[in-house]
Amino acid sequence: MSPAPTLPESIDLAHHLAKRVRTVQPSAMKALGALVGSRKLLTLGGGTPHPSLFPMSHASFTLPKLSTLNGDVQDWQQGEAVTEEVHLKKTGPGTENDEGGILDLNDILQYGLSNGFPELVHQLEELNELLHGKTISDSSIYITLGNTDGVSKVFQLLVEPDVDTVLTEEYSFASSLNAARAKGAKLYPIKVDGEGLVPEDLEKVLSTWDEKVQGRKPHVLYTIPCGQNPTGSTQPQERYDEIYRICQEHDVIIMEDDPYYPLQFAAYEPDVQKRELQLKEARSKLPPAPEHAKDDDVQAVARVFNEYAGVRSFLSRDVDGRVIRIDTFSKVFGPGVRLGWVTANSTFIERLLRIGETTTQVPNGLSQSVLASYLSDKHWGIGGFIRWMWGVRLEYQNKRDYFLDRLNEYVPKNLVSTVPCGAGMFQWLRVDLTSHPRYRKNPINSSAETAVNLALDTVGKEPEVPPGLELKSTNEPAQYTSNAGELMDELWNHLVEHGKVVLLPAKVFIVEKEGVDQSEDFNFFRATFAGDLENIDAALKAFGDSIKEWFAKA
Ligand code: PLP
Repeated sequence: MSPAPTLPESIDLAHHLAKRVRTVQPSAMKALGALVGSRKLLTLGGGTPHPSLFPMSHASFTLPKLSTLNGDVQDWQQGEAVTEEVHLKKTGPGTENDEGGILDLNDILQYGLSNGFPELVHQLEELNELLHGKTISDSSIYITLGNTDGVSKVFQLLVEPDVDTVLTEEYSFASSLNAARAKGAKLYPIKVDGEGLVPEDLEKVLSTWDEKVQGRKPHVLYTIPCGQNPTGSTQPQERYDEIYRICQEHDVIIMEDDPYYPLQFAAYEPDVQKRELQLKEARSKLPPAPEHAKDDDVQAVARVFNEYAGVRSFLSRDVDGRVIRIDTFSKVFGPGVRLGWVTANSTFIERLLRIGETTTQVPNGLSQSVLASYLSDKHWGIGGFIRWMWGVRLEYQNKRDYFLDRLNEYVPKNLVSTVPCGAGMFQWLRVDLTSHPRYRKNPINSSAETAVNLALDTVGKEPEVPPGLELKSTNEPAQYTSNAGELMDELWNHLVEHGKVVLLPAKVFIVEKEGVDQSEDFNFFRATFAGDLENIDAALKAFGDSIKEWFAKA
């Protein structure tokens, strides 16, 4: 797919680069390798191992045939799908690999280009364009080892150690937070509610930032806008627009970590019969899959995929080049392939490449060749991959629905509430600690005699807000002390000891705020519905029984 000629170039955003990466020189050896390849030179230069000494002459794998990818992946799950095999071979000069592998094992097992196999890069450019469109002419791709790697490299790219503060949702994915800290960043929480990051809070934090007191004004927002981990929230379109506008106004780079984007769901429908009909209808929405990828109506497939999705990415709105989008194959292929890709303006991608040359060197050749084979027109093509993601999405939607059914059945709403998630793998469960007999919240600075036990006012009441997340008080200095944190620890232990069930407590995900007691914000658990239905059923039953028991005990 070629970019429309009228697209603007990204604006100059080089001032966002951390000093340590501005001056990294390109690898002389990689440059030499490219020169040798392009001019067909005789070389005594590179120290590449001899391919005749690679102890592998053949590798093969099996995949469902494109013609089976019509929205339902159950045949594949049950081992009944029509399949085909791909063979990766050493072909050598002048021989044709006509057995389905699109790359030669000699190349796959050799050092390669730091930004990945060109075949895969082109395929991902096409996939990007189908899912997000193209808004700047110099948008480029860098292949990573998955989003953990992508996120970490992008922090390295942008964070000035011990100077920068990165803005992020007040609850966020713990290993990304650790990656930011490891690169020398401080973190600052932005409020979230049932619809993700709250733009008004972002605006307030940026426009009231006091550099004398708080240090350099933040220029990076790390966000998981869709199926957020851990809260499961997905931002409505207007929030994407608003957040993008605020970031433009304050010159902030948006790191869009988006592993769950392909897993966007229809709204939860509690009526099982209605829901099954809707699911059946959704499964039949795709145009019939052809035998050969070159005959697939890729645009029509992408249209179905995009229209069902509730939201479009930050990347699809990016007219400046200020979005760094971070994608992964982990949730829609398999985390073990350790592959993903970053999309950004060409200046940022060029610097990521320099970071890659001194860290991962080249992405794993075997994994790249497997993915490039799936995505090639010899097998699924890009359309086939979108078809696969569509089927996977509907499976997770079904799991989400089953999870919510069982939650409603086993767990009392006055103790635990949630907002059905619109994407991803997580439900964020709010525990109404105020209903517990030992819950205490006392104003700070009040004497023992006058301390008001606010809990007394709330015991036995339904939560005031709609079930789920409400605005938190983390951006205001705490005016109280609370035992919510201790109660959540106690509850977690009780669930493990008595219910034999594990959920992840909010304190694992919370972004700390200096000098603020955040224990009132600990009253959530992250639960995943990604597992087997039997496991969901048993775990939620155990959760419901033991949480009732814990609340009943004084
Ligand atoms: N980012 C987020 C928000 C995640 O939820 C995950 C999940 O594991 C990751 C990154 C890690 O992805 P990967 O397996 O691609 O490293």
